[in-house]
Amino acid sequence: MKKYDYIVVGGGPGGIFSAIFAGSLGIKTAILEKKNRMGKKILIAGSGQCNITNTGDTKEFLTKYGDHGKFLRTSLYKFSPKDLQDFFKKEGLELVAREDGKIFPITKKSTDVVNLLYSLCKKYNVDIFENCEVLEVSHKENFGIITKLGEFSSKNLLISTGGITYPATGSEGEGYKFAKSLGHKIIEVKPCLTPVFIRDYPFVELAGISFKKISISVYNEDKRMKESFGDILFTHKNLSGPGILDNSRYMKKGYFLAFNFIGIPFPTYKEHFISYSNNNGKNLVKTFLGTYKLPERFIKNMMFEAQIPECMKISSLNKKERDDLGRYLTEYRYEITKLGGIDIGMATSGGIDTKEINPKTMESKLVKGLYFAGEVIDIDGDTGGYNIQAAISTGILASKNIGKTL
Ligand SMILES: Cc1cc2nc3c(=O)[nH]c(=O)nc-3n(C[C@H](O)[C@H](O)[C@H](O)COP(=O)(O)OP(=O)(O)OC[C@H]3O[C@@H](n4cnc5c(N)ncnc54)[C@H](O)[C@@H]3O)c2cc1C
Repeated sequence: MKKYDYIVVGGGPGGIFSAIFAGSLGIKTAILEKKNRMGKKILIAGSGQCNITNTGDTKEFLTKYGDHGKFLRTSLYKFSPKDLQDFFKKEGLELVAREDGKIFPITKKSTDVVNLLYSLCKKYNVDIFENCEVLEVSHKENFGIITKLGEFSSKNLLISTGGITYPATGSEGEGYKFAKSLGHKIIEVKPCLTPVFIRDYPFVELAGISFKKISISVYNEDKRMKESFGDILFTHKNLSGPGILDNSRYMKKGYFLAFNFIGIPFPTYKEHFISYSNNNGKNLVKTFLGTYKLPERFIKNMMFEAQIPECMKISSLNKKERDDLGRYLTEYRYEITKLGGIDIGMATSGGIDTKEINPKTMESKLVKGLYFAGEVIDIDGDTGGYNIQAAISTGILASKNIGKTL
């Protein structure tokens, strides 16, 4: 039986940073990692370039986690995006910000991040056990941990096993089972940060076209669940882009999605149409649509959907055709048939219920000495470096608290 003061289950960004900070405080720490190497998800993050964090300040960060920003308040203030940037600088890995605010290592190589974390584990005497899948955890006076490499015991335990997506990286949802066995409630998990499939996908021909900062609404029947502004991208088979990925946490099969492609409400479109038609009745409908600076392929597609021939003059359009076209442009509702699965979702929504975790320490409210960090918790961030930052900040908050209690 190997004994530690602090055992971290799962070597993702949350677990590794927590272990490094605990090690730097002189706490006898070990990481138990299922795969042959830690940080497999870091390696694929940001298409292998690793978008570590974002230029936004902490206040802005707190708006990037759906309804769960409040839970992350203490962790993100105690180890802020700026602290993370300073950390990498101090450790000799320069970071660089892109125009959109995403921050990457200057080398644009995730491997440089993972290699640095390995060397810091060594520096702070963190023991790493790889190919060491945890099978069971229990708690009496200490935590008992049964793994494929034998038994461990620890005064404190961090569960940082990640979510359920990209299971080949090691994140397969086992942490929920451990938390449940220790009495915790799990909020239903599903992939998020994922593209969305809609019924009779009408945008196949528009693959590659994107819209910037348009209104995106999610409906459950007639109830609008969410409205926000974001960028969308048409692909060959589904809708993607940051505005879709970030809102996927609010979507479900059977819900509806609506977009406003021209930035004005339907009644204003109607006014524009009537005034344009009165003055330019001989012009083609597509010329009128061109006044909204829409891509030509998109105009063709919308006219096709509204069953209006391309050669139609604006004065020849009847009221129904005019209104159908306007609704496609401003408020048409597309039925969601499915969300991307665990093979394409970049994060997991749901997880360990935040109500049972102390947000000031990341310690369980039910079991003393039990901590949680990262995606295993019921938190998920937008695209842009918000998930890795949250995993790291929650992991560090846990080890800071353990440092105070030992
Ligand atoms: C394709 C893709 C791209 C992404 N890009 C970005 C990005 O650029 N920026 C960003 O902020 N976020 C990105 N994310 C999300 C981000 O990578 C995750 O949110 C983050 O890695 C979560 O960190 P974590 O420490 O909670 O868990 P994870 O990184 O998932 O790590 C969990 C670890 O626990 C181990 N484990 C699981 N079960 C056990 C067990 N039973 N015993 C022992 N070990 C176990 C796993 O093997 C794994 O190593 C991306 C995700 C994907 C899938």
